[in-house]
Amino acid sequence: MIQLETQSIQLNAVANSKAEAISVVGQLLVGNGNMQPAYIQSMLQREQVSNTYLGNGIAIPHGLASDRELIHETGIAIAQFPQGLDWNTGETVYLVIGIAARSDEHIELLANLTHILDDVAAIQHLANTTDPMHIIRRLTQGSAAASDEPLPDDFPCHEDVVLKGKAGMHARPATAFVDIARQFECDIRVRCGSKVANGKSMLALLKLGAETQSTLRIMAQGKDETLAVAALAEAVRNGLEDEEELTEQDSQAAHATPVLELTTPAITGIAASPGIAIAPLHRFHPETLEFAAMADDPQHETERLKQAIATGMRQLQALHEEVNARSGAKQAAIFLAHQELLGEPDLLAEAIRTIHLGHSAGWAWNLSVQQKAAEVESLQDALLRERAADLRDVGSRVLRLLAHAKDQASCMPDTPVILVAEDLSPSDTAKLDPTRVLGILTAAGGPTAHTAIIARSLDIPAVVSAGDTVLTLPEGALCILDGDNGKCYISPVAEDIERAEKSRQQRHAIRHMEALACYQPAFTTDGQRIEVVANAGSAQEVELAIQAGAEGIGLLRTEFLFLHRDAPPTEDEQFATYHAMTRSLNGLPLIIRTLDIGGDKEAPYLQLPPEQNPFLGMRGIRLCLAKPELFRTQLRAIYRAANTGPIRIMFPMIASIEELLAAKEIAEEVRKELHAPNVEFGIMIEVPSAVMMASELARHVNFFSIGTNDLTQYVLAMDRMHPHLARQADALHPAVLRMIDLTVKAAREAGIWVGVCGGIAGDPKGAAILSGLGVSELSVSISSVSSIKARLRKLSSRDNQQLAQTALRCKTAAEVRAL
Ligand code: PEP
Ligand code: MG
Repeated sequence: MIQLETQSIQLNAVANSKAEAISVVGQLLVGNGNMQPAYIQSMLQREQVSNTYLGNGIAIPHGLASDRELIHETGIAIAQFPQGLDWNTGETVYLVIGIAARSDEHIELLANLTHILDDVAAIQHLANTTDPMHIIRRLTQGSAAASDEPLPDDFPCHEDVVLKGKAGMHARPATAFVDIARQFECDIRVRCGSKVANGKSMLALLKLGAETQSTLRIMAQGKDETLAVAALAEAVRNGLEDEEELTEQDSQAAHATPVLELTTPAITGIAASPGIAIAPLHRFHPETLEFAAMADDPQHETERLKQAIATGMRQLQALHEEVNARSGAKQAAIFLAHQELLGEPDLLAEAIRTIHLGHSAGWAWNLSVQQKAAEVESLQDALLRERAADLRDVGSRVLRLLAHAKDQASCMPDTPVILVAEDLSPSDTAKLDPTRVLGILTAAGGPTAHTAIIARSLDIPAVVSAGDTVLTLPEGALCILDGDNGKCYISPVAEDIERAEKSRQQRHAIRHMEALACYQPAFTTDGQRIEVVANAGSAQEVELAIQAGAEGIGLLRTEFLFLHRDAPPTEDEQFATYHAMTRSLNGLPLIIRTLDIGGDKEAPYLQLPPEQNPFLGMRGIRLCLAKPELFRTQLRAIYRAANTGPIRIMFPMIASIEELLAAKEIAEEVRKELHAPNVEFGIMIEVPSAVMMASELARHVNFFSIGTNDLTQYVLAMDRMHPHLARQADALHPAVLRMIDLTVKAAREAGIWVGVCGGIAGDPKGAAILSGLGVSELSVSISSVSSIKARLRKLSSRDNQQLAQTALRCKTAAEVRAL
């Protein structure tokens, strides 16, 4: 880092204009031998093309990139204007920091500057200090050293509380805290020891490094300060939604230890995902992305960065949906946290500041992310340090977008391998293809990292934290990876390969037995049959569902045909897909849900106007009725496919009789045009009005399928995608269960059957309660088919009914879960 000496500081400077102030710092830089006098002119010209006012009384004038030759040596000079100086209209400057930058040496110093930008008290102090060393220390000693300045006084309105939970202020409690804090207008600070954080910034809270049992002082200043302190203190006392990272099921999976004893020397790591893999090693090389350090047009660079962040957000949203549909909410939760991190205002603000110093978007973003990650990494707490990896993951997603780089996970060899990496990000792991990546071996990482959770959900054996030696292993060396015991064996002797292969096959045999049982129907102990079908979102998933023992497809989400493309799919294209599915299903039923786009799923080619509440807007059947051609094309494809297998049509988001009748009318017209066979109709029950009108709706359809994901969000008024509310939006809430009860009763009277295709159908407790309420079909994620069948086989319908009746009388979701 460059040195700041007292001759670089002009205290109590005098200037009548911005130009004069620039001249003051310019002269200092010239006098210190940093640049030629002509560069002052360049600094003035820069003001014509961009505004160098940073905010809160600080400006950072610097010259044009094209004049860099006029700089001898990188330097910084500071002029202090205690009375304030007009920079641009409405901008008063107290500290003018002139920069002559030939290289990047000044960046660390600027980063220190950004740490004090939102600290009004510190800036006032520097604007009035009579000791130049105060300024030098503050700019050269980094954020941690800031505490050698007197800390600002605590706000009078405050409360001390003890932090509970097992892991201190890690990402989840910090997110919960910020979420509450942002509902208040007042300024909120949190003190832990000598560190103070902005209570509305997740990163700032993480940087407190607050461990469990530490005392937090929650302080607020402003209109609603009393309420804010009370709410936050209460939330901290209640544990800030903190839970253990690993569920019992996860840890059993991670620690089941059938012993594989081999003679080849082992490299030992931590067992993170069970199973045995035997394959050659392949080194996963994180791509080095290169960026020009400098760029000429800050406006353009800022715009590029904002667009890349917006695209990154959309990608994370899609990844969340994909992992959620495949493996469940818990496994997918990390991608909600990533969205939160990507939305951190500080990250963008700091990058923009750096861009305005003449740097490119990629360079500035990288600096901002690396600095934040380094701060988080320096914390004591291991769980918190793992968040640094998440920050870098989020950061490189944006960098790749800026560099138009390819996804690393898509650059795998064609033959099966065991992947070796320093560490893998959750994003990279989620994209791995388990048929090509048989195992994962990492030098770093931990069993609670999200990468390990995702590896388990993909059923890829993994050993983590095996040390740096694994990075020196030769490419292509044969490896036995034992994910049960956290070991790997490189270039094993022949007998070991044989032993490991045998053990692998034994496991396979056990799985195979389970798979055989999964084809048997699920009868309760007293003979009640529950049909277990699967949710699918692609032709490949339909195949996988059948292999997993599903007795059909209870919900085909057809949106996959319509998303991530420039135009809607043609009738022929849709027909080919549905036909491929009926062929795979070979007589098993296929419930095709007509397009449920809108809400969080956008198809830009539909050119829908932006909506304030997309989940309450043009979504599902409403959209299809408003775009009859889109609807008709899909219905034509479905009716053509109905000639090839038992298809049922299901309409999503029905909220009124009129909608159902209008949809059926169009379908009937299409059927007649095609001389197609009659098919059964059903509707999704996912809107409260549909529950209340279930008796009337039931007269017009053959079945109901309850979409508990949406029904829960609309009954509880909690956005299902909300990073914090989503956890509370529990479909086992008695309010939702009572809605299901009303629906089943109405259906029974009308003589039609009821299924459930929301996530709760695949929850062991959910399956028992739903069948007890009279639901006769459960449509679950593919990975849950065999376990839900096995679960139902152990229960009696009488017990299920009793359980359901007790659940209906409960007052909270927690009470239901505790039954
Ligand atoms: C539901 O809402 O429960 C459902 C199954 O539909 P989706 O998740 O596709 O909205
Ligand atoms: Mg739904």
